[in-house]
Amino acid sequence: MAKANARSQAKSKSATTSPSDRMRELEKEIRHHQELYYVKHRQILSDRQFDRLLEELSVLEKEHPDLVREDSPTRLVGSDLDNKFDKFTHTIPVLSLANTYSTEEALAWAEKTASKDDSILVEWKVDGATLVLYYENGKLVRAVTRGSGQVGDIVTTNALTIRSIPASLSKPLNVVVRGEAYMRFDEFDAFNEQQGNIYANPRNLVSGSLKHKKSRETALRPIRWVAFEAFFEKSKSESDSDQLRQLVELGLPVFDDSLAVPVSKLAKTIESYKKKLGKLAFPVDGLVLKIDSLSRRLDLGHTSASPRWATALKFEPELGETTVEEIEVFTGRTGRVTPRARLTPVKLAGTTVTYATLHNADYIEALGVRVGSRVKVSKRGEIIPAVEEVVDQGSGPEFVFPKKCPSCKSKLLRDEDAVDWLCPNPECDDKLMNALSFYCQRKQMDIAGLGERNIEILFKEGLIKHIPDLYTLGDHKEKLQNKEGFGQKSVQIILDGVEESKKKEFKRVLPSLGLRELGHSVTEILIDHGLTSIDDMIALAAEKDAVEKLQEIHGIGPNTASAIVEQLTDKKILAMIKVMQKHGLQFIQKVEKSDLPQTFAGQVWCVTGSFANFKPRDLAMEEVKRRGGKTVSSVSAKTTHLLAGEGAGSKLDQAKKFKTQIVDETEFLSLIK
Ligand SMILES: [Zn+2]
Repeated sequence: MAKANARSQAKSKSATTSPSDRMRELEKEIRHHQELYYVKHRQILSDRQFDRLLEELSVLEKEHPDLVREDSPTRLVGSDLDNKFDKFTHTIPVLSLANTYSTEEALAWAEKTASKDDSILVEWKVDGATLVLYYENGKLVRAVTRGSGQVGDIVTTNALTIRSIPASLSKPLNVVVRGEAYMRFDEFDAFNEQQGNIYANPRNLVSGSLKHKKSRETALRPIRWVAFEAFFEKSKSESDSDQLRQLVELGLPVFDDSLAVPVSKLAKTIESYKKKLGKLAFPVDGLVLKIDSLSRRLDLGHTSASPRWATALKFEPELGETTVEEIEVFTGRTGRVTPRARLTPVKLAGTTVTYATLHNADYIEALGVRVGSRVKVSKRGEIIPAVEEVVDQGSGPEFVFPKKCPSCKSKLLRDEDAVDWLCPNPECDDKLMNALSFYCQRKQMDIAGLGERNIEILFKEGLIKHIPDLYTLGDHKEKLQNKEGFGQKSVQIILDGVEESKKKEFKRVLPSLGLRELGHSVTEILIDHGLTSIDDMIALAAEKDAVEKLQEIHGIGPNTASAIVEQLTDKKILAMIKVMQKHGLQFIQKVEKSDLPQTFAGQVWCVTGSFANFKPRDLAMEEVKRRGGKTVSSVSAKTTHLLAGEGAGSKLDQAKKFKTQIVDETEFLSLIK
């Protein structure tokens, strides 16, 4: 629908303005908003409005290919070309720094190196992937990974899909900028969840994405980039911090909490950074300390390995030492077999940790971990605990990753990327049970009384096997009530919950089925695009060029498109959907036409805490949406309002940081009156 809109807009505009004028106008406007958002952290347009501008421009570009500029911002959405990564020898030093884990040593370095007049520039050491941007005459001509430090991979088409990287600068300068591509914890979590939690941490996902073969896929990943060091062809700057300010003027994003301080204040500054550590929205692994003056850097020079004028102060992730009691292996609903370590409980970052992930078979082999090993486990940010290091392997037998599914004993197969082992059996008990649990989860259909334990009991009893079986549970009411631990009351809760789920909207039903790539956000994209029922989607999937058509939808990449088509033409899946339709589940999305004035249009709201008038708080979100506003689950620079109820926690701090407007329940009630 957005597409049709953009087209008619383009047509009506072209009646008065020539296409080329309109295209230049759009390019300018898009760049302006990109800069506002990523450099100045201000948002005027909603994501949707921003996407419409891009959409209008890309429609015009298709109609007038001769007028397309090489640095068009439509490249933000990537291309389908397979990238071959040519090599490039860096023209600037991409150095590795001397580093220390000791604040005392870092301070001693500063005392020894800095003169009285020197300032030390303090920056976060972001845990991402280095990406160097080469601008010529203000145009991005090359983006290169760190590679060996001397030679990196050219990943320009992928870099152009990262919205915080401008294709052109505000002045036609020659400059090379070293920066870091990274991902925020909340955006990583949301993306990872949608993909079935297959990524271990944001850093791995970022570096993998930079070298993805299809830039269209890279475009879908929430990567950000931030500048740390500039090399101007001609520079009058005397200091690094001054150069960073110039980068901001050029439209490049820079963290605004980098500080240049005299040595006497360094200890205090380091302390204040450390205090912020637990609250950061993105992963860091330390601080970078650099002499700010550029001429002093020349004086100080390099050792054979690293510059004398800089050092990295790394932060030890909080580690707990404990013993591996067991290595357990699970088959998930997608068939992926994941190992985890059961540990002797250990206190870590304020919580007791009993399990830690071991990621996959290769990870276990690389660590050499076995039952009885003494290990160090870490818990960073919001990521699940992981076994980081083996302190003492112990004398137990070497762990052998199973060749057969721990549940159904099918022979395991390697996945496409040869990282994971998969159970290929569609009728595998653990896969089916996990699919049922997933369907009933709070975030999905939210069926009361059907947690993992009860599902396992009902499954083993033979009462449920596939999702549609939940809807015939009523036939076994008596049998259920007589089961130990299942009295009349709890059976009624389950049956009511199952009945209630028939009222759940289609946009909730579809992602709950657990089909590959068809999570909440993809479902919403399809619905927004006018595919408002399962029948619409199935009809499209049956068309000859369905994969191409789906890819035309903004936000749907090639992998997602193929997965949708493959599954929505699968006879078994279609049969299951048919049974569920017969049971009365919603497979058509009701599109509510709101008569209310759209007073929240263009606003982005986050809702946190609890409310007297909105229980659950989703009801408050509905009010926002009905008035044209958008809702999000976490506060970011894009969020315009935070509705804070009783017991609002960390989101309040985030809102203060981003200067988001904070609204309480009383104010909100008057806004919606
Ligand atoms: Zn299996």
